[in-house]
Amino acid sequence: MKILVINAGSSSLKYQLIDMTNEKVMAKGLVERIGIAGSNLVHKYGVDCGSKKKYEQAIANHTEAMKLVLEVLVDKEVGVISDVHEINAVGHRVLHGGMAFTQSCIIDDACKAAIKKCIPLGPLHNPANLMGIEACEKAMPGVPNVAVFDTAFHQTMPEKAYLYGVPLKYFREDEVRRYGFHGTSHRYIAGEVVKILGAEHSKVVICHLGNGSSLSAVVDGKCVDTSMGLTPLQGVLMGTRSGDVDPAVVEFIANKEGWNVTRTLTMLNKKSGLLGLSEVSSDMRDVLTYSRAAAGEEIEIGGNKVIAEQEKIDKCKTTVDCWQYSIKKYIGAYAAAMGGLDALVFTAGIGENNPVLRAMVCDGLEFLGVKLDAAANDEKKFGKEGEISAADSRVRVFVIPTNEELAIARDTLELTAGKK
Ligand code: ADP
Repeated sequence: MKILVINAGSSSLKYQLIDMTNEKVMAKGLVERIGIAGSNLVHKYGVDCGSKKKYEQAIANHTEAMKLVLEVLVDKEVGVISDVHEINAVGHRVLHGGMAFTQSCIIDDACKAAIKKCIPLGPLHNPANLMGIEACEKAMPGVPNVAVFDTAFHQTMPEKAYLYGVPLKYFREDEVRRYGFHGTSHRYIAGEVVKILGAEHSKVVICHLGNGSSLSAVVDGKCVDTSMGLTPLQGVLMGTRSGDVDPAVVEFIANKEGWNVTRTLTMLNKKSGLLGLSEVSSDMRDVLTYSRAAAGEEIEIGGNKVIAEQEKIDKCKTTVDCWQYSIKKYIGAYAAAMGGLDALVFTAGIGENNPVLRAMVCDGLEFLGVKLDAAANDEKKFGKEGEISAADSRVRVFVIPTNEELAIARDTLELTAGKK
């Protein structure tokens, strides 16, 4: 069984072809700048997808992008299959499933209509996800498509966790509530944790810390709370998203700048977080490097050599401090919400790769029973997974690399096996 996993954005399309007999990635790639000047496809193939080829050509829409992806997948030189018919099914990442989707589903007209209905909740992503789905339907008629929702895993949250304290009619009439995102990642990690701890009596906080970050509280494998909200803007400090702010900040800044609400929210989504506070970078590697430099020292930021300035060092230190504090507060809140904590898991770009930042987040959580093994923590990076808590730590702490594409492919396989 070969499953193609598609993650379509408004001007991009990411793909992975996975051989489900061994769950290995056969090829992957990214089409960028769809419909705008400079469109291109970067295709990775070969052993561990270590070889790559770039195609620069006009790509007008998602249908053309999909056509090109399929041509490349069967190409004599860089392709990995001999015929498109070898693809058994396609799994699509869909951002917002609203309250309609508590799990993945085979895409039919009713499913597409429901995804369309969720457009007001995911106005940037859901239309792009639909374009990806329709492009695959056109390019591979008869091949089943499956939708895997970023919000689905969090649908087990109780009312007390998902309702906002605003007039109930907005929930009743428009389903305005907390949904949560990165659900495919949280579900994958929850599944891995259940394998280690057992399905029952486990109270786990999952820290998905990447460019976008979210935490979830998971009891016996089920989500009971999560930090992102109606949109991915809520929660902890992120690369360019502010995370939690007093909504009155929106009014204040809009008035000061003469902006409307949409423009102000774009600033909260794209210019805030690590970038907004540090005024140096949205990338945690850069912010951390700068925060630990001495004035006058030559450091590398975003691939460029720069001389560290004291003012920027101070801003980066404050930014890292705000970042770790915002995460720590959620861990404490979730331990209280669950009435205990058995395990803490780190995943995604920052969580999987940076022992220093993990140690910062755990520092001060000793009262909850969190005690790291410094050597084990230092060693877990760049794909290495395992336990990083000390033998006598009451709370077990793990680093588990997330794999959203594999989770999507597994769902797709499960739902479509025998259907083609
Ligand atoms: P996305 O949210 O885009 O899916 P990822 O989970 O891939 O993000 O994480 C990407 C982010 O992880 C980068 O923006 C970078 O800030 C961070 N990151 C990656 N490696 C490291 C590292 N070694 N130290 C600190 N941060 C890292």
